[in-house]
Parts: sequence; structure tokens; C-alpha cells
Amino acid sequence: MITFYPGPSKVYPQVADYAVEAVRQGIVSLNHRSAGFMDIVKETVRLLHEKLDIPSDYHIAFVSSATECWEIVAQSLTAESSLHPYSGAFGKKWAEYAYRIKPPVSLNEADVLCIVQNETSNGTQVNMETLAQFRRDFSALIAVDAVSSMAGITLDWSLADVWFASVQKCFGLPAGLAVLVYSPAALKRAEEIGETAHYNSILFIHENFSKFQTPYTPNGLGIYLLMRVLQQVTPIADISGRTKKRAIEWYTFFEQEMKASPFTVLINDLALRSDTVIAVQGSETEVSAIKKAAQKMDIMLGNGYGDWKNTTFRIANFPAITDEEIGTLKQFLRSY
Ligand SMILES: *Cc1c(COP(=O)(O)O)cnc(C)c1O
Repeated sequence: MITFYPGPSKVYPQVADYAVEAVRQGIVSLNHRSAGFMDIVKETVRLLHEKLDIPSDYHIAFVSSATECWEIVAQSLTAESSLHPYSGAFGKKWAEYAYRIKPPVSLNEADVLCIVQNETSNGTQVNMETLAQFRRDFSALIAVDAVSSMAGITLDWSLADVWFASVQKCFGLPAGLAVLVYSPAALKRAEEIGETAHYNSILFIHENFSKFQTPYTPNGLGIYLLMRVLQQVTPIADISGRTKKRAIEWYTFFEQEMKASPFTVLINDLALRSDTVIAVQGSETEVSAIKKAAQKMDIMLGNGYGDWKNTTFRIANFPAITDEEIGTLKQFLRSY
């Protein structure tokens, strides 16, 4: 079965060997305060800076999920309330979680702007030009959910103070770990707010990570697998070039080769189209039929999500997917 599901998604095949390594070499049994484990955390953080080109003064911590990051932003980095200009299901969910912790106030009192860079539910993205515009217009902190784009495309880190992603999308890893990146300004804000009421208060997280430790027993296997995958992948500029080229090819494919089919790209505005998740629209009947037909050919298409659950299917354009697999899917679509 080849999978184009946009999360959990295809993992790099090498992950199987890395997992065996982690068990055989006793890495999963290391005490998380031991030197051996701290070395792995330190090296993984170093590799993230190097391979993803994260500025050296931005801090990196590991938590369990992007959903946890939504809560961390609300509890530890939001003084009054946050602002959520969203366009899809994940942005909406983030707003709902945040407002349970910090209820909404009037627009001009919001002190954190929360942006979903890549809206996995409908295949839209906030490109770096738009994010730069937000940066110019908004003086407070900017937090970015980059769950389905981090490690897939180049991000301009300087345009936000907090960035996070769970690893089951573009990192090509199993779920259960998230990367949280935060700027010196975000840390300063956290210190001003001084929130320490939670196990995952960012001040505790920061204190622990400055010693390459974690407040609680972390997902050691996940961290090790992340380290091994980062050692293996090329720098982000390289990966990003390939992702964007493949995205253009996917959109062209639907507009040209699938012109006579019952399917069209969901998003018409070129500037909004995601590089990493292609959402394709059709009638409920057609969408259900093509997913079933694909399954028979051992191809897993991504279901629709939220409002688009039954009238779209999604194709992940994540780095772990090979050209050959894309070729197989295109052949299936052409002959469908
Ligand atoms: C998948 C996804 C999430 C949720 O990630 P979890 O690891 O399940 O918390 C959040 N935001 C976006 C944009 C996603 O694609």
C-alpha cells in the first residue's frame, strides 16, 4: 500500500531500521537525565538548526503534539487573548482550544496573532509574503502552526516568534512528538507573563531544555528517530525546491491531464494553494468511488477533512514520498 494521507503519513522507510537500532542499542531504555540521552537531544536540536536553517538564537524544545503547542501558546505566551484569522478546520480548532484557556476579547487587545501556515484541511497556505505583511501590521507576538509544512518547505523563521509542527507530516516520522521553536522575544514574553501553573509551562520547558532535558519522561524513541532522519535528509533549501516543483506539477496535472475528469483542484487562487497538501474536489459519489478504486490498487488517498470531508480527497506532497509513487498515483488517476 502506498499512502498519500496527509498525516499520519508515509514515514521514511529507513525509520524501520532506526527503530530496531534504538531498541537493540538500548537507546529507548536510557534514563532521560543520563548523559547519553542528553547527547541525543543536543544533537537533534543542533541538526534542526542546521538542516532546517533555524536561526541560532531561536530556541527548540520537544513536546508531544501540535495540539499541546496550541495550549502552550494560550497558557504561557498569551497575556490577554489571541487573534485567530483562520480559513479551515485546524485554524478553527486552535481558536477553540485557545479561547477555552484565554477567552476572546476585543480585537485590539489581542497580544498574540495565531496563524496556521498550511491549512491541511483544505490545501491552502499563508505564504511568506502574507506572513511578512502580518509581521509589519502586527506588533505583538506571532505564533505559527506549521504542522504540515515544516521540513517540507523553507520558512522565514524571522517572520514569527513561535513555530511548531508535529512530526507525522513532512518530517516523515511516526506521530507522538512535536518540535516547538521560539524566539528570544517569545521567551521574554513568557518571562513577563510568568506562567508556571502547568507541567508544560514554557518556562519549565525552557529551563529543562537548556540542560537538554525535559520536564517529564519524553518520547525518547521519537527523538532518536528524528535525529536519525535529520542526519539522512538534505538541507531544507533542497527539499523545498523539490516540494515546490512537485506541487506545481500536481496542480498542472489536474488542470491539464484531469481536465475532463469529475475532479478539480479545490482552491482556485494560485497564491493560496498549498505546496504540501493538494485538495481535490468532486461530488460525494465521485469522491467516494475514486477513493475505493484507489484502495483496490493499493493506493491510499487522503480523506477530506472538516467541511470538505465528503467532497474532497487530499494528496500529501511530503518529502518522504518518492517520484515513483507519485508516478503510480498519476497513472491511476489518468486511467480512472
Ligand atoms: C495535523 C495537524 C495538527 C494536529 O497535530 P497533532 O500532532 O495531532 O496535535 C494541527 N495543525 C495542523 C495544521 C495539522 O495539519
